[in-house]
Amino acid sequence: MLVVGDARPARRVLAQYLAVGAEVFHLGGPLPERGRAGNAEHAGAAGRAGNAEHAGHAAQTPIVHVHTVQPPRSPTAWSDLVSAVELVVLVEATAQTDALITAACLRHRTWLTREPAAETSAMGSVTLVGGGPGSAGLLTVAAMDALRRADVVFYDRLGPSDLLEKWAPGAELVDVGKAPGHHARPQREIERMLVAAALRGDTVVRLKGGDPFVFGRGGEEVIACREAGVAVTVIPGVTSAIAVPAAAGIPVTHRGVSRLFTVISGHTPIGDRDLTHLIGLGGTIVVLMGISTLGQMLGGLSRLGMRADMPVAIIERGFADDQRTTICSLDRADEMMRTTGVRSPAVVVIGDVVTLAARGDEAADALLREAAQFALFE
Ligand code: SAH
Repeated sequence: MLVVGDARPARRVLAQYLAVGAEVFHLGGPLPERGRAGNAEHAGAAGRAGNAEHAGHAAQTPIVHVHTVQPPRSPTAWSDLVSAVELVVLVEATAQTDALITAACLRHRTWLTREPAAETSAMGSVTLVGGGPGSAGLLTVAAMDALRRADVVFYDRLGPSDLLEKWAPGAELVDVGKAPGHHARPQREIERMLVAAALRGDTVVRLKGGDPFVFGRGGEEVIACREAGVAVTVIPGVTSAIAVPAAAGIPVTHRGVSRLFTVISGHTPIGDRDLTHLIGLGGTIVVLMGISTLGQMLGGLSRLGMRADMPVAIIERGFADDQRTTICSLDRADEMMRTTGVRSPAVVVIGDVVTLAARGDEAADALLREAAQFALFE
């Protein structure tokens, strides 16, 4: 196939067709020396080939294999060029060139299609995209749209990433979950990467698990962009705090059972003061990043007066094929944790709503009946 248009406006078209394995000829301005988009640090092509750092998706868009062709000098030469390919994609051309190509395509019955030019402003932008809890079906339409337009996508392990190549066919995919030595990348470095890509003119997507603003450090990334003068927008996502319990059949609120839910991070131990407040609120408690401090938290709740038979659910790997839900009462949680060996990522739910997950069993049914009655009189 032949792509007509300068490298920068045509970059997405080039990447898309290369990604599906087409042999691509390019007629237009020169391709950037390093990388797909003149992007020395992360880009495809030459820059990517020897770049171990982003090796994950490295060799997949070898723009270096595009054949550059010179503009034909006569209508006959146009005919020769067009008859040598099966498809011509016109991104940008002068009126005169457009007319020559159209005529040649008609003459040779070569398919001709027009595709919009990618933005070419000197300054790019950053979009923080909430990717939901890992299931492709929970990606929003706005998220899909942003991915489709991206030049580069920075993603990590919690978001949905299996199908990224399909959703963002024109983009370079950079896994920022793991640094070369398999350590987590420092947050500041991720922020620097986002800003640097946008300053080079790229349309940047930062894909995050769940919602960007729920323990996602999205706020910090927004501030970093603003401080660097980079335009930044946020597309909210489906948070695991609500969706993962739902995947286990647990509604975080239920009329007559719980009229509030608190989402708290267990990344660092939750102190007695906070635990006392949580007990006092009497609603559903949802804990994210809570596995390493789980014993301490459940022990604290029990010591500070929470009912011994309060139901606790731990939902591991929500929406994955091996999602596992473990339910027990507060007083047996210790034993349960020891026998089941729960692991991160998991969402912990503490509250009567947990009983609703087990519809069909007696206790759950009794609770539901009670709730229904309560709702009737409310
Ligand atoms: N911004 C994310 C949360 C980031 S904190 C959101 O809104 O969902 C990371 C924590 O989220 C994990 O430690 C785990 O508690 C939870 N989590 C995210 N996705 C999950 C999943 N698919 N299954 C279970 N827990 C998940």
